[in-house]
Amino acid sequence: MTSDHTTPNSGTSGYGDSDPGHLTPQEAVELLMAGNRRFMDEDSAHPNQDRGRRELLTGGQRPNAVVLACSDSRVPVEIVFDQGLGDLFVIRTAGEITDLSVLASLEFAVVSLGVPLVVVLGHESCGAVAAAQTALATGSMPPGFQRVLVEKVTPSLLAARSQGADTGEDFEKHHVVEIANHIVDRSPGIMERLREGLCGVVGMRYRLSDGLAEPVASYGLDIDGVAATEVP
Ligand SMILES: [Zn+2]
Repeated sequence: MTSDHTTPNSGTSGYGDSDPGHLTPQEAVELLMAGNRRFMDEDSAHPNQDRGRRELLTGGQRPNAVVLACSDSRVPVEIVFDQGLGDLFVIRTAGEITDLSVLASLEFAVVSLGVPLVVVLGHESCGAVAAAQTALATGSMPPGFQRVLVEKVTPSLLAARSQGADTGEDFEKHHVVEIANHIVDRSPGIMERLREGLCGVVGMRYRLSDGLAEPVASYGLDIDGVAATEVP
């Protein structure tokens, strides 16, 4: 690791004497939901994008959340949550699918940087979910490495179908839930932080139409209308 990737306990976060300390998981999710509301309302504050912020960050980073989002060009993470430089640690893959590199990046953010919140961000009209739906319905696979997208999304769709889901929205939501569950299940480091109350996990589906990042699953968080999954 390079010297700018400091641990939360190193005392050299780059924020110096003004280091506000990390947010709680609940504070972090409320911060992002408030930013998303500003974005929806066309009232974005565009925070933390000035010269002072750039200079502050030369010494290190302490982002408030790590976001695994779909790579879709219509879901730019910092814009959707109205965040700035150093605020979000972002990983993007088509269909927000995971592999070892993604899990390693998530663990780096949560365990080494002390990030208090993991966000899995899917979205309306996701091409990867649609490709997996098509493959299930017709047996037709996309060419080349794109088949990996179908292979990684299909288990979510099978699980969703077994629970009676049949719309694109249902499949997209279910896929976000499955990815969130998978991350918690696969990563001992994230699981431990969850158990200690140092980290929360939220799955969201972004609506292209109105800009809402709708929470659909959560661990270790209190979000209106979303049942908190018990931490294993
Ligand atoms: Zn997508």
